[in-house]
Amino acid sequence: MVQRKTDTSIEAMRETGRVVAQLLTTVRQTAAVGILLRELDGVAREVLREAGAGSPFLNYRPYFAPTPFPAVICASVNDAIMHGTPTDQRLRDGDPVSIDAGATLDGWAGDSAISFTVGRARPADTRLVDTAFEALDAGIAAAVVGNRIGDIAHAIGTVCRRAGYGIPEGFGGHGVGRSMHEDPAVPNEGRPGRGMPLRHGLVPAIEPMLIGSGKEAYHADRDGWTLRTSDGSRAARAERTVAITDDGPRILTAL
Ligand code: MG
Ligand code: MG
Repeated sequence: MVQRKTDTSIEAMRETGRVVAQLLTTVRQTAAVGILLRELDGVAREVLREAGAGSPFLNYRPYFAPTPFPAVICASVNDAIMHGTPTDQRLRDGDPVSIDAGATLDGWAGDSAISFTVGRARPADTRLVDTAFEALDAGIAAAVVGNRIGDIAHAIGTVCRRAGYGIPEGFGGHGVGRSMHEDPAVPNEGRPGRGMPLRHGLVPAIEPMLIGSGKEAYHADRDGWTLRTSDGSRAARAERTVAITDDGPRILTAL
């Protein structure tokens, strides 16, 4: 069921979104060549603790997961597309990384993700990461009253395909509210003018995911969580929780 939020609820979700943004900023500032992914999870936990916020990631267990998620961030490196667990893996020069994180505060969830490279980036990886943010911006720009879900999907898909990247099938954005994952689904590829009409108070997480090659296969890693490209190509993603309002899209996880 799709639940539209009142203006008061959107204000409350903005506070949660600020915590998520602070968490991602801190992780980004900490990430460097030689850092362990586990250490990034540590600084993220500290941000949540200081804000008095909870984590919707920690102990999350969807149907496909063999074990509850062990961390407050997903850290996905190189060919990992998403759901990477922050292990003792050490970041190496040039690694592209995506960090996905959420928070809960006063009963409201927020969800956001960034991608970046550490050390000396390969130009191909910089282009991949830049395109993820470009697709995010296009998706947000389409998140306006009068459009439909398909317009967001089409905007994201167009940027990714035009740049020559693949889009993992079966994953995408979603509603956010009292819980991190709500209806409606917001696909990363679709037909314009189709799907649910966008109205004031709808709060989706918009989250393009790109894989380096045109091949769209991936597989679960041994930990049962990490999704990787099947051909070793690299991946990037970007995500924001956005309130659709009569005054235009409002990014709730902006800093
Ligand atoms: Mg997320
Ligand atoms: Mg999400």
